[in-house]
Amino acid sequence: MKTDRTFHFVSLGCPKNTVDSERMLGLLAQDGYVPVAAPDGADLVIVNTCGFIDAARAESLAVIREMLDRKATGQVRGVVVAGCLAERQKDLLLEEVPEVDQVIGVFGREEIVKAADRILGGLDEQRSIFNPAPIRAMDDTARLRITPRHLAYLKVSEGCSRFCTFCAIPYMRGKHLTKPIEAVVAEAKELAADGVVELNLVAQDMTYYGVDLYGRPRLAELLQELDQVDGIRWIRILYNYPNYFTDELYEVLGSSEKIIPYLDMPLQHINDRMLKMMNRRHTRAETVEIIRRLRDVMPGLVLRTTFIVGFPGETDEEFEELLDFVKETKFERLGVFPYSFEPDTPAAKLPGHLPDDIKAHRRDRVMEAQQAIAFDFNASLVGKTLDVLIDGPAPSHLGPGVWVGRSYADAPDVDGLVFVRDRNLRAGDLIPCEILLTEGYDLVARPVEGAAPKRKNRPRPRAKKLPPASPFTILPG
Ligand code: SF4
Repeated sequence: MKTDRTFHFVSLGCPKNTVDSERMLGLLAQDGYVPVAAPDGADLVIVNTCGFIDAARAESLAVIREMLDRKATGQVRGVVVAGCLAERQKDLLLEEVPEVDQVIGVFGREEIVKAADRILGGLDEQRSIFNPAPIRAMDDTARLRITPRHLAYLKVSEGCSRFCTFCAIPYMRGKHLTKPIEAVVAEAKELAADGVVELNLVAQDMTYYGVDLYGRPRLAELLQELDQVDGIRWIRILYNYPNYFTDELYEVLGSSEKIIPYLDMPLQHINDRMLKMMNRRHTRAETVEIIRRLRDVMPGLVLRTTFIVGFPGETDEEFEELLDFVKETKFERLGVFPYSFEPDTPAAKLPGHLPDDIKAHRRDRVMEAQQAIAFDFNASLVGKTLDVLIDGPAPSHLGPGVWVGRSYADAPDVDGLVFVRDRNLRAGDLIPCEILLTEGYDLVARPVEGAAPKRKNRPRPRAKKLPPASPFTILPG
C-alpha cells in the first residue's frame, strides 16, 4: 500500500505544461500517492518546469533550488524535476543540481510513478528518464485537474513542425503530432462529465491540426464534433498560427454554437523581412486578410496576439511598422516580448543582435500604445450585457458576496477579470451580467435582474475517484 506516501506538485509554464502536470498528478493519485497542498512534510516534491526562454528557465531553477533547500533540512525526502527544462538541459541539470533525485524528460511523463517509487524505495541506480518522442500523441485522459473544476485545457496536438528561428519548442517537444479526432472528443466528454463548462483548446500550432495525421488540416471538423459535446458551453481556441485558415474553418468559426468569438493568434511580427528572418510562413498581406475575414465571420471578435520586438537585425523602420500595425489593427488583447537570446536556436546565429535597453524601450512603446486600445475596448463594454463565467470568490478585502469571473473576452490567467457582487452565485455559474464600469484591464458588473445562473446538472462521478481540484502551486507562464 502506498496511501501513506505524499507528494506536492509545482506546475510551471504554459497551459500545455498544465495538462502534462495534470496527467502526472492523475497517474500518481491513481497509484495511491496522496497530493498535499504544501511541500513541507511531503515525501516528494515534483517540479514540472518550463524551459521556453531565459526568464522561465531562471524561475524553474529558483523553484528547484528552493525545494532542494527543503530536502537539505529534511522537510521533504525527494525532488523530481520534469518537463521542458529537463528535456532541454538535462546534462546541465544533472550536473548543476546533483541533489535532484530524478530528472524526467517531456516524453518520460508516463513514468512518473516509477520515478516516485524508485526514490521512496531507496533505489538510486538510475537518475533520469528520457524517452524519444512518441509516434502518436500521448493520452491525456484520467487527469487530476488543477484548474477550477468548471474550466479545462484540452491539448489537441503535441509538438510543432514550424521551426520558427527564435523558438526552441520543436527541439523540446518534437514535431507536430495530431491527437485523433475521436480521442479529443472522448477527452472532451470526460471533462464535460467532470463538470467542465469552458473548454480551452491548446496546442503549439492549432491550425496545423490534422496535417501530419490525416494529410490535410482538419481543425474545422474537430470543432464541429466538439460543438456537439453536451455540457460544454464555451469553446475557446488558443495558439492559432496564421496559416491553414481554410474556408471550412471560417465557416465553422462563424456558425458554431459554442465557439466563443475569442481567438488567440500569435503573430510575432508584421514586417515581411522580419517574418522571413523568423521563418514564419505568413506575410503581412496574408495576415491582414485573415484578420479581416475573422472579424467578418465572428462579430464581436476579441483577438489576442503576441509580438516579439528587438529580433536580431530589426531596424527602427521595421519596428515602427509593427507599432503602426498595432495601432491600426486595435487588437483587444496583446502581449509583447523582447527577443530572448536562445543559444540553441537558428536566430542566435543571426547578425545584428540588439542591446537590451533598445529591446525594452521598443516593448514599452508597444505596451503604451496597447494600453489605450485595451482600455478603450473595455470602456466600449460598459452598459452591455455579457455572460460571465464565475471562477470563484473575490479576495476577501473586496468584502463579502463579491465574485470574480470572466466574460468571453477574457481567457483564464492571461486576460482581465469581471467582478460581480451577488450572494447567490457559485463557481461555475454562467450568468448574464450588465457591465457597470471599468477598473483598468478589469470590469465591474451586476447580474441582470431576474436572470438565473445557467447551471449544469451535477456532474456524474468519475470512473475512478480522484480528489477534486486542489490548491497546488501553479505558476502560470
Ligand atoms: S509555431 Fe510557435 S511553437 Fe512552433 S516553432 Fe513557431 S513559435 Fe515555436
